Amino acid sequence: MPFAPALSTPNRRSFLRMGAISAAALAAAPLRAFAQAPAADPLTSMRAPALTTPITTTRLYDNLFLLQGAGGNMATQIGPEGKLLIDASYLTAAPRILEALKALSPDPLDALINTHWHVDHADGNQPLHEAGFTIFAHSKTRERLSTPQSIKLLGISLPAYPRAAWPSITFDTALHADHNGDTLDLVHFDPAHTDTDIYIHFHKANVLHLGDIFFNGFYPFIDEGSGGNIHGMIAGAARGLALADSSTKIIPGHGPLATKADLQRYHDVLVAARDAIAPLKAKGLSEAEVVAQHPTAATDTTWGKGFINPATFNGIVYRTV
Ligand SMILES: [Zn+2]
Ligand SMILES: [Zn+2]
Repeated sequence: MPFAPALSTPNRRSFLRMGAISAAALAAAPLRAFAQAPAADPLTSMRAPALTTPITTTRLYDNLFLLQGAGGNMATQIGPEGKLLIDASYLTAAPRILEALKALSPDPLDALINTHWHVDHADGNQPLHEAGFTIFAHSKTRERLSTPQSIKLLGISLPAYPRAAWPSITFDTALHADHNGDTLDLVHFDPAHTDTDIYIHFHKANVLHLGDIFFNGFYPFIDEGSGGNIHGMIAGAARGLALADSSTKIIPGHGPLATKADLQRYHDVLVAARDAIAPLKAKGLSEAEVVAQHPTAATDTTWGKGFINPATFNGIVYRTV
């Protein structure tokens, strides 16, 4: 199991060491052969904006910050035990992420956690690992990053990532750690947005990162090819609600920082979509017939203006309900 050289710093209780204490929870996925192929065009165009998009930093707690740029929302915890970073954005964002981290404190780089395998959250793994981070994730994130993948809806085909991009510490159910004075839970969701999703809960800071379980303010993308489905998304949102209180700062995978009330609204939108579409499918209507009925018309004008339009969202719900 490759360990990052930065971890040997004396007097530093690294995240890796805390993780190793929970050894029973750890299970490295099988190592796979490294394969590389040229990037597909849609991937190149997804990566391009991250070259120039600045990273904004918002303080959520004494030592915990929200980082927002071109990819999914990131967070960083700073402190003498080393910096912890949640998500890695695109490959092309790495220099700006490292600049933003450097501007916060001189602490060394310690742990990078992937909320799931998607390109807007894990594409930057390799340069960030090479800069000093050890990568933690669910075992299926490692499995997917180390093998060729595709996302049909987005027209993306991805070769297996180089080994330096693979999470080196993985878990199947949960991983618990004390780090920089806070207590963290990393817990896997049942298949929801993908089959690799985890949440990260900082107890003391009262901050919850839900990854792409939560799209704040617009219909979510659900990756059917990675095991995603509407039932899991609803269950995931409900799990987030159970963990949060009225002062919890909730980081969605996409969209602005949220409260429990925002998450409740999102949860209710998903439930309404499921409850509108499931009976039509049960009656035997085709996907096209269901979409033509505009079953989510009540929320389409507010929630259908993001990345996923109402027809696409209805189709996903129909196929996975
Ligand atoms: Zn995302
Ligand atoms: Zn995603």
